[in-house]
Amino acid sequence: MKYVICVPDGCADEPVPELGGRTPLEAAAMPSLAGLAARGEVGRAAVIPPRMAPGSDVGNMSILGYDPARYHTGRAPIEAAALGLRLRPDQVAFRCNLVDIGADGTMLDFAGGHPRTDDAAVVIKALDAALGAGAGGEVEFHPGVQYRHIVVAPADWADAVCTPPHDLTGRPAMLPRGPAAPRLIELMDASREIVGASGLGASQVWLWGQGHQPALPSFREATGRSGALVTAVDLIRGLGVLTGMEIVEVPGATGWFDTDYEGKRDAALRTLAEGADVFLLHVEATDEAGHAGDLGEKVKALEAWDSRILTGLVEGLDELGPWRLLLLPDHPTPVALRTHTSDPVPYLLVDSERDGPGGTYSEPATADAVPVPGHEMLGRLLSR
Ligand SMILES: [Zn+2]
Repeated sequence: MKYVICVPDGCADEPVPELGGRTPLEAAAMPSLAGLAARGEVGRAAVIPPRMAPGSDVGNMSILGYDPARYHTGRAPIEAAALGLRLRPDQVAFRCNLVDIGADGTMLDFAGGHPRTDDAAVVIKALDAALGAGAGGEVEFHPGVQYRHIVVAPADWADAVCTPPHDLTGRPAMLPRGPAAPRLIELMDASREIVGASGLGASQVWLWGQGHQPALPSFREATGRSGALVTAVDLIRGLGVLTGMEIVEVPGATGWFDTDYEGKRDAALRTLAEGADVFLLHVEATDEAGHAGDLGEKVKALEAWDSRILTGLVEGLDELGPWRLLLLPDHPTPVALRTHTSDPVPYLLVDSERDGPGGTYSEPATADAVPVPGHEMLGRLLSR
């Protein structure tokens, strides 16, 4: 039996007036998805546990079968894992954004002018040399991607309440609070001289999302099966590293509207043919369209899922033998709100050998279903 988990990131939405009150999932032409839903089972999954932030880290941890309420320690340690960093028990990882804060203390740009990765790395290395391990300091600066970097600090630095900078855009930059806050603020202030002189559109670093190394049992230990995944997103790559899944590289996977849908589909089929039991196929484009408030791109990304992934995926899986498929997003990203919500999402479960009750894969069609805790969905996929 082969198992596929399809994650159209943030695809769930809300009724949109421009679509005549339909959601993008209802409006998009998705004949393959409709066919799968007609022979499968649809319902709702609570991928974001109560009182947790609706981030992709939380939602995808649920989808991989780990209860975030039990295992999630923060966003930064997952991204640190994607960079190949392993935290010691006496260490904590922070997400370190390059940000632009105005003279009046307003958060102007949480992405520090979207620097190129190479240019940003020069600045992060300079920070490490002046303020971090390179200068005998307590912290390590590790370059990541574009404006997204990691600081590793002593464990007691974790004792602070930090605000994600993307929640502060256009508002006063709310500094960390709590026992460790003075050290965080001191480091953020000290970064201004180097970051400000860098010529990037950033004025300093911003620390947030901290956590210690999460104690996740491996995917094989947890499920008895081998797992692999494809994604362009650091957080999901990090979850793969932390759970010992194989990370499959697809050169054209961009995390954007232009991603190589067919390349991801073929990587899934090839990896399963080579022996993997479970494959998670993640595409970010639907989420980016939601954040951009771009209804047209969201519908287009959904239609690409259907014609460029699902159609060929099902044909390829049929050639491999019996299969089961789970499709669900990690959270909604409604185009009208341009951010994530915590609402349960529709799920689709299909078994190639057993027809389910059938249904329609959309938010309204599943609105009355009792939500299943998100981390139980993997068990439902694998149990048979
Ligand atoms: Zn997401």
